[in-house]
Amino acid sequence: MFGIPESLVLLMGQVFVGLIGLSFILTLLGVGLILINAYRDRFFLPRATLVLFTSFRYPIKAILRMVGMPGTTIDRLSLDIRNTIQRPFFSTVPPEKRMAFFPQCLRDLKCPARTSPEYGIMCSKCGKCVIGSFKKKGEDLGYMGVYIVPGSSFIKRIVKRDGPSAVLGIACTADATAGMEMLEAYGLPAHSVYLLKEGCVNTVVDADRVLEIMELGCETEDVPPSGVAA
Ligand code: SF4
Repeated sequence: MFGIPESLVLLMGQVFVGLIGLSFILTLLGVGLILINAYRDRFFLPRATLVLFTSFRYPIKAILRMVGMPGTTIDRLSLDIRNTIQRPFFSTVPPEKRMAFFPQCLRDLKCPARTSPEYGIMCSKCGKCVIGSFKKKGEDLGYMGVYIVPGSSFIKRIVKRDGPSAVLGIACTADATAGMEMLEAYGLPAHSVYLLKEGCVNTVVDADRVLEIMELGCETEDVPPSGVAA
């Protein structure tokens, strides 16, 4: 056939079938690890689980959905695992080298903030939503930047411009996953807190969780106690 020796064609076929079989086994292994970790407080083989999940995301999610695990649960679990791996690295970065990014859907519908291409949506801490408290906490801790993201390319642009050493992102599960993968590709420790209620407006986040992560690794003795205004 086209001058290719029959033995080579046979070998290529065997390699192809072998690769499919290997992918199938790794997918099932990923499914098993996700199922095990869904019921544990302390994650089992988190790095292996994440590598398999990232490599075989779609078939793993399809199988898990078939056994009754909702897509949101799977995405949140993968973010929890990713955060567990990243937390020790994020914690060691001093706050003055950290940035935090918040989604604009968390804002009050009557948010008076102005938008700038350089600084995003500039929160005036009016007290109508939780972001004002997060911004104050970031300033008290000495974060190099606390931003409200006005558009999809903003984070990439600001990170390239100012060069933080770690990033905290608050976002829906899809954006948090994409953001963490992007920042990991840049070699930056990243931590996320996913929204409890997603959508275009009036979204909800666990404010205590956000404040807890913002404070990770920080000396908090001189910092006023956390408080959420809205
Ligand atoms: S606290 Fe900030 S983000 Fe929230 S509504 Fe007021 S100005 Fe807008």
